[in-house]
Amino acid sequence: MPTVPSLTMNNGLQIPQLGFGVFLVPPEETKQAVTEALKAGYRLIDTAQGYRNEEGVGAAIAESDVPRDELFITTKLTNSEQGYDTTLTAFDGSMEKLGIDVLDLFLIHWPQPMFDQYVDTWRAFEKLLADGRVRSIGVSNFEIPHLQRLMSETDVVPTVNQIELHPQFPQDELREFHAEHGILTESWGPLGQGKGLLEDPNIVEVARRKDRTPGQVVLRWHVQLGCIVIPKSVNPDRIQENIDLFDFELDDADMADISKVRTGQRLGGDPNTFAMR
Ligand code: NAD
Repeated sequence: MPTVPSLTMNNGLQIPQLGFGVFLVPPEETKQAVTEALKAGYRLIDTAQGYRNEEGVGAAIAESDVPRDELFITTKLTNSEQGYDTTLTAFDGSMEKLGIDVLDLFLIHWPQPMFDQYVDTWRAFEKLLADGRVRSIGVSNFEIPHLQRLMSETDVVPTVNQIELHPQFPQDELREFHAEHGILTESWGPLGQGKGLLEDPNIVEVARRKDRTPGQVVLRWHVQLGCIVIPKSVNPDRIQENIDLFDFELDDADMADISKVRTGQRLGGDPNTFAMR
């Protein structure tokens, strides 16, 4: 079974550098997919209240013989529940569905700056941290101004910012800001969400050179950038393939060739305007 390295967060705790994402995994398939992932060696599971599959994640955890202290469970506050009291109530709902006592990482899913609630929401996150209900708190889809505001108005610096990141949209400026402030970068949509990245000739050529799959060289690119990466698949062969990343290295020429696919275009929502209520 591959050994996944860990990164150290700004609170001193460790986070596995590779995890299993369950966005768009149907609730009835989630238990099976997470069980496959745990068997393959994944220890970080990334879900969200909005994915409506926390119960499936919880069922897989409950049946697994992997000790709880080896698992790293992330969930995210859904957008409609931002605000101090609503956050605390929504957190309880997640814990019930996941069937665990303490969460490893809780994220604000989107900043929704137009509603101006993320600072209050973060204060509730700080309370959950102080109360020992969650070990680490972080954010997702935050841009530099959102992070700056959070850091100037609250006490705890986010451990992680989970953002859209892949070779087409490599987020250089935000990654640099994270590095300066001790925030880890977690890549969502790391494989380009099945929208053509893995068929790009530059990627296919690096994969051929390394005798690996396009998915593996792209995921390895994330690892070598120092990001945490959370690919999603429900296919057991791909689940296995996506964790077999730690016995090869990309050289500078490989990294440069992969970076040629940069378009600067997002696949998902723009954090400044994306909202749900
Ligand atoms: P992804 O880039 O991981 O792409 C997943 C798709 O790629 C799969 O549906 C499958 O079709 C394909 N795939 C997987 N492995 C492959 C392989 N080895 N070869 C070829 N194709 C392969 O996209 P994602 O699921 O959107 O992102 C990963 C995770 O990030 C999610 O599951 C979720 O946990 C998280 N996420 C977070 C946010 C956020 O707003 N915070 C948004 C989207 C996703």
